[in-house]
Amino acid sequence: MSRVIYFDNNATTNVAPEVFEAMKPFLTDLYGNPSSMHTFGGQVEKHIRYSREAIAALLGCDSSEIVFTGCGTESDNTAIKGVLAAYPEKRKIITTRVEHPAVLTTCRELQNQGYRLIELGVDKYGQIALDELKAQVDDDTALVTIMYANNETGVIFPIDKIAEIVKAKDVVFHTDAVQAVGKIPLNLNNSNIDLLSLSGHKFHAPKGVGVLYIRKGTRISPFIVGGHQEKSRRAGTENVAGIVALGKAAEIAAKSIREENTKVKKLRDKLENAILKSCPGSMLNGDKINRLPNTTNISFEFIEGEAILLLLDQFGICASSGSACTSGALEPSHVMRAMGVPFTAAHGSIRFSLSTYNTEEEVDFVIEKMPIIVNRLRELSPFVES
Ligand code: PLP
Repeated sequence: MSRVIYFDNNATTNVAPEVFEAMKPFLTDLYGNPSSMHTFGGQVEKHIRYSREAIAALLGCDSSEIVFTGCGTESDNTAIKGVLAAYPEKRKIITTRVEHPAVLTTCRELQNQGYRLIELGVDKYGQIALDELKAQVDDDTALVTIMYANNETGVIFPIDKIAEIVKAKDVVFHTDAVQAVGKIPLNLNNSNIDLLSLSGHKFHAPKGVGVLYIRKGTRISPFIVGGHQEKSRRAGTENVAGIVALGKAAEIAAKSIREENTKVKKLRDKLENAILKSCPGSMLNGDKINRLPNTTNISFEFIEGEAILLLLDQFGICASSGSACTSGALEPSHVMRAMGVPFTAAHGSIRFSLSTYNTEEEVDFVIEKMPIIVNRLRELSPFVES
């Protein structure tokens, strides 16, 4: 394959070479079932334990609070549906309009089943109003679920303050931290977060493994029932190789989080500043300050994001757009709409998301190509007078 410049790390990441090495034995020689009575199977169990400890160390919690799942979506579904099942007398859920579909679709499905759903709006920076949240949390609220960091814009919510507000009303709080874990430091010991979702493939572990953190004492029913794995909190034979990989990725992340906030942020800032300067009609979406260090979301007025992506693709550059194909038409994403990004700009929004594997040379290449692409598309735009 020709050279690929991968700036789409919020979609998924490469498996780190050390992670791949760590998981390999569990796909070959060490294939035993950790629940087996024999030594061959039983020896695998300790590797699951090491992984649980590595993840607990990254999150600042106890290893008994880590439950392995199949992905971030499963963790989100488990948190939401599991808490509602544990509080059958409560009928209200609070979330935001900018959640990932793993949360939003789940909540809306529950709304169709009769739950009262409050979707908090956001301002132009993608932030919610804490007063509005405070006013909504009441005795009927079973769960508040609010993401840590937004996958499209990288905007970080003030999760500790949010958790404090929710805790003050004695309501369970879940956060979808799929985009935050491995990119910014978290410390669950010092927070009021009850439940937290993460996903391996967003920080250099493979796809198909996730975690739901469940604070000790949180009332929650299991979502997947069957065997006694994960202390009956999530049944099903463990994805041992995936779990070992996730542990290794957590270990690496714990060591490299500072680098993420320096090296990766520097590359992101260089890319962002250069594009905003060289491409007329470009603007940043989201909160410039409270943001993941690896993400930038830029709108280009009067051009389709998809057209930009196609031209980027011709240069081997991978990115994402903020539009989704709904019933055959391109619609700005629900995040862009919630932030009130003007229609003409929301259609042309592009997300670049970097990782520690990106280089300055790659950034320079994209900086060189972007104005060429934008100017070419502007010339073709029916909305721009020549
Ligand atoms: N939540 C957020 C914020 C995400 O960005 C994603 C994936 O893009 C998910 C949940 C779903 O995670 P997974 O792909 O592991 O199901």
